[in-house]
Amino acid sequence: MRLRNVTGSREMIEESRFVVHEPAAWKGKWGDVFGNDGPIHIEIGMGKGRFLMNLAAANPDINYIGIEKYSTVLLRAVQKMEAQELSNVRLIRMEAEEICEVFDKGEVAKIYLNFSDPWPKDRHAKRRLPSRQFLARYHEILAADGRIEFKTDNAQLFDFALEEIAPAGWKLEAMTRDLHHDERMLVGNVMTEYEERFSSMGNPICKYIIYR
Ligand code: SAH
Repeated sequence: MRLRNVTGSREMIEESRFVVHEPAAWKGKWGDVFGNDGPIHIEIGMGKGRFLMNLAAANPDINYIGIEKYSTVLLRAVQKMEAQELSNVRLIRMEAEEICEVFDKGEVAKIYLNFSDPWPKDRHAKRRLPSRQFLARYHEILAADGRIEFKTDNAQLFDFALEEIAPAGWKLEAMTRDLHHDERMLVGNVMTEYEERFSSMGNPICKYIIYR
């Protein structure tokens, strides 16, 4: 569907039953949103949402929440959701820095970060989603045995992310600098929109899994 104007886009987001508009009101009560006690997995910086929706279709017992900062991008995910209704998916438009206001201690079982913005300037390092500042936030909301899975084609961002793990008190479970040629880590891989684009350009995809 083509949207002719911004008002229409905003209305579509506002009216979508898949978008949670006051996410902080559900802190500690996300099971009520889904109507079950299944584990909650989130993707921060979801983009157009294909990764999340494919995972959700394959894993109906897991509840998925996609978080995206920009409504113009979120709209694409909303449109997909209206076409392919998945009862185990909800979407939130928010800035990831506010994540601790939305999820209670240990409420999230897994966090996905896919092709996060690199913020190349040193003084912006704390805005990078795998930075120690963000790892401290994830520590708050992630279950004790929870995992973060991070993928990127940006080698500098990946190096930075690896360096942040130990100082933030996390541990590396697995990593590769060429996911698509790593037989073990490739098992069950679900491609994201960016992953498809960048790997088709020949860029190797880096991935880590961390825990604490
Ligand atoms: N995960 C998708 C999109 C990657 S692009 C994929 O792999 O295809 C990164 C996305 O993260 C963008 O849509 C951007 O708007 C969003 N994003 C970046 N920083 C964010 C933040 N701090 N909070 C929420 N979303 C963010």
